[in-house]
Amino acid sequence: MKFSRADADIFVPEGGDPAAALARVTHLCVAAHQDDIEIMAYAGICDCLDQAGKAFGGVVVTNGAGSARTGPYADFTDERMQAVRREEQRRAATLGRYAIQLQLAHPSAEVKSPGNSGVVADLVAIFARCRPETVYLHNPADKHDTHVAVLARCLDALRSLPPERRPRRVLGCEVWRDLDWLVDTDKVALDAGRRPELAAQMLLAFDSQVAGGKRYDLATLGRRAAHATFHAAHATDRLAGITWALDLTPLLAERAPDLAAFTVAAIDRLRDDVRMRIARVT
Ligand SMILES: [Zn+2]
Repeated sequence: MKFSRADADIFVPEGGDPAAALARVTHLCVAAHQDDIEIMAYAGICDCLDQAGKAFGGVVVTNGAGSARTGPYADFTDERMQAVRREEQRRAATLGRYAIQLQLAHPSAEVKSPGNSGVVADLVAIFARCRPETVYLHNPADKHDTHVAVLARCLDALRSLPPERRPRRVLGCEVWRDLDWLVDTDKVALDAGRRPELAAQMLLAFDSQVAGGKRYDLATLGRRAAHATFHAAHATDRLAGITWALDLTPLLAERAPDLAAFTVAAIDRLRDDVRMRIARVT
């Protein structure tokens, strides 16, 4: 298995042939940065831990070079930081017993350039070598440019596959900007409340991100708990933690709307919901 960047990292936690490990993957997450997978697709990781015959695969598209660094990492060069983050991602993959972890090492600027063929070629190669039933991607209303760019490149790659080779379900998950604003009928609840100790361990594997005072571990676990409690006023909490997602599968259909129209339609449904509720009581 070869990718367009010489510094791409292929890691099979249990050892063995990477192509065979990728072929086993049933739940695949393609994210922009190291630690995004563990924030957005923890439910998929748990699904695979809980069921025989299921296997989780993680893909990180960028090299993590531009990350903020403080505390013990303040003086690290970009190269050293990339090496640290690559190792942290491998540690998380080991903890989560992923079948495979791929880190494609593209500079963020190249991912954001729509004409970059290397990024899409790598993604096509990955999607063509596995048959995931569920694919976890960034959501189109995320406020991080690189996240939305990775989503757009993934959709380009998935649309290039013949329809019968496309995944059955594609979900856009929250990282930078929650999805609790979606109207309830647009929300997909992913059960992220399982194995709370493992969830914390996996987020703390990214010491370089947490050490400087950005407590992604506490924030992610708190967000999941808040979603579980606040999504229904009159029901008791069925799940201990929720990650919200938007179903992106319609974007792979023939004559699908474009990404902007699809996303703005969800915002319009929120606008209608707010307007109707106010009208009901005033
Ligand atoms: Zn990210």
